Amino acid sequence: MENKYLHKFYQKNRSERIGALVLAGVIHEDDAALLRDGLSIPEDVADNMIENQIGKYELPLGAALNFLINGKEYAVPMAIEEPSVVAAASSAAKIINKAGGFHTSIEERRMIGQVALKDIPNLEDAENIIMEHKANILQIANESKSSIVKRGGGAKDLLVRVLPADEQNNIPSFLVVHLHIETLEAMGANIIDTMVEAIKPYLEEITNGKALMGILSNYATDCLATAECRIPLSLLEKGEFSGEEVRDRIIEATQFAYADPYRAVTHNKGIMNGVDAVVIASGNDWRAIEAGAHAYAARSGQYRSLSTWEKGENGELIGRLTLPLPVGAVGGQISIHPAAQFTKRLMGYENAKGLESIIVSAGLGQNLSAIKALVTEGIQKGHMKLHAKSLAISAGATGTEIEVVSEKLRQSKKMDLNTAKEMLKDLREQ
Ligand code: NDP
Repeated sequence: MENKYLHKFYQKNRSERIGALVLAGVIHEDDAALLRDGLSIPEDVADNMIENQIGKYELPLGAALNFLINGKEYAVPMAIEEPSVVAAASSAAKIINKAGGFHTSIEERRMIGQVALKDIPNLEDAENIIMEHKANILQIANESKSSIVKRGGGAKDLLVRVLPADEQNNIPSFLVVHLHIETLEAMGANIIDTMVEAIKPYLEEITNGKALMGILSNYATDCLATAECRIPLSLLEKGEFSGEEVRDRIIEATQFAYADPYRAVTHNKGIMNGVDAVVIASGNDWRAIEAGAHAYAARSGQYRSLSTWEKGENGELIGRLTLPLPVGAVGGQISIHPAAQFTKRLMGYENAKGLESIIVSAGLGQNLSAIKALVTEGIQKGHMKLHAKSLAISAGATGTEIEVVSEKLRQSKKMDLNTAKEMLKDLREQ
């Protein structure tokens, strides 16, 4: 049920929104003070985060409300520059909340580290030798990062893949060793890279080959997160479209994205609007998540939609999204970036699996909003409202001028920068 303090949250100004989050018990007064201060990265932190630092590049941070995930309410932080995304996430989450919320499943969190071996005299023999020495290899890997083993994680398994030579394209054969590593609450890039570097010399010695490289794979196929929702037809009605029509059109939209890579890329971009915004807000590496998600979308050999929408046994609409989500609840920038520390408290997840649940739900919600709008009224109506505000700001409007100019733009037949500038000039001359 909606908290009374959060009613019409989007109509409040920023200061009122922060106050409402405190009153609703979503954030503590200390965090409200941090938000009011801007959550900026301290200069010395920024200077040690990257090389050649010359400034800080900010993004707006929004709170998407109404998320009910596995029976618990969340305010979901989204760091994003694109208008409409936070509104769309909140609106889909509201519908899904009324339908019982998102349900997620995260089976395991095993990351993959690769060592590529080349110039192997006999691939088949080398594969057998590696498997015979599996226990030793796992031991060397685990000794190189004993702290993760003490925590209960570490390298748990190993497999070997033979990539045969491709003479047509002048590509030699490779023997690839995969370490399957439990990195617990961390995304684990540094843990994995330490381990694969450590086993390289031993692999060279036992195979008589040469190690080309050792590195994690961002294609985290053993770290999948799934969100599901079931929406009754009564919650799908939109304007002249009945719930049944909206359901069927959403299903057809997914079938289109399944069949056509040109559509699938845009369909998945809409999902990643939600996923990336939360991943960024959480302080995690969004390039890693992006790369893995798109590879997963192409796992059948054709790039397809990441989500599915289908008709349930009672006529309801069932949505599902599965993604590789190797995010961390510790490590990387999470404990040093003030905004990432704040969002961790805001979300209040218990562990990395909890964060995965929120991210995959944001992706599924975002997808529902986008395709529902596309197959009914189209997305321009909603977009144009925020686009008008961007134009007003670009034209130089400030404070209350932004609302006045953007409202005039929306009423006008022409919505472009020149028109916005003329409107602002007229307003100031009044
Ligand atoms: P860190 O090395 O910063 O953090 C992980 C460390 O946190 C662990 O090694 C462990 O250290 C400590 N830790 C404390 N509590 C726990 C716990 N409960 N579970 C697990 N670890 C714990 O980060 P990651 O290894 O996760 O790497 C993420 C960073 O790597 C990101 O910034 C990413 O951008 C970057 N990166 C990404 C690459 C890619 O995606 N291809 C490549 C290279 C880097 P200890 O045991 O010693 O206390």
